[in-house]
Amino acid sequence: MSMISKIEDFSKLCVHTLTTKPWGIETCVRNYSAVGIKGITIWRNVLENKNLNDVKKLLVDFDMQVVSLARGGFFPSIDLRKREMAIEDNLWAIEQAASVGAPMIVLVCGADGGQSLEKSREQITEGILRILPAAQSAGVKLAIEPLHPMYAGDRSAINTIRQANEIAEMIHSEWVGIAVDVYHLWWDPDLQVEIQRCAAHDHLFAFHVCDWNVPTIDFLNDRGLMGDGCINVPEIRSWVEEAGFGGYNEVEIFSDKYWATDQKSYLEKIKHAYLTKT
Ligand code: ZN
Repeated sequence: MSMISKIEDFSKLCVHTLTTKPWGIETCVRNYSAVGIKGITIWRNVLENKNLNDVKKLLVDFDMQVVSLARGGFFPSIDLRKREMAIEDNLWAIEQAASVGAPMIVLVCGADGGQSLEKSREQITEGILRILPAAQSAGVKLAIEPLHPMYAGDRSAINTIRQANEIAEMIHSEWVGIAVDVYHLWWDPDLQVEIQRCAAHDHLFAFHVCDWNVPTIDFLNDRGLMGDGCINVPEIRSWVEEAGFGGYNEVEIFSDKYWATDQKSYLEKIKHAYLTKT
């Protein structure tokens, strides 16, 4: 691809609704579409109290491509009742995804600090296997998203792409793969080789971008825009693309700083960072 065509090209840009958290689903769709962004990943908070048929119609009317629904998961718990509630919630997420035309659900797999990471990973695998038939019959893929180890105590016992590859290979279904997020995985010395392994098994389902601020002042809501921090996003993007990934670059930024700014100006910053720093 020439430099010129890349400079003009927003066709693989997707924005997560949570990136522009102050906006509801209608505002996201109208404003993304108005500036030429066609890919959207829908966080479930913006679907609360919405008629899903209306949301589907809105997306179709604005010719938006739904990349994913975020998020399912949170399977592990020391409490059996909570594990069963998680299954119910994931089955509902599958219905929501099918209703709005999302081909995939991102799984933040979960962890319970009251048990070992190995035990939590077992429960994650069991949980994915439980919901897999429903996902398959709804035509919705499941993407395991490894999270940075700082979340191992409560958000995910899957902290490296290698662990995600091992689980996806064990489950061995075309409906279960992996979401690679630079925020969680940039530090991993095995990242490139595990991306190649993931793609070789057809498990590379999604690619999320943002940046790691130095210093990071909040573990959850201080993500940077590409170029703000220390992640070499273009290099990691080149690894996923060389491995054969042809999907969207999904901008997923949780940031109290950016949420406090004018969101339309922020969207322009995102487009610029996408062209120059991604
Ligand atoms: Zn992500």
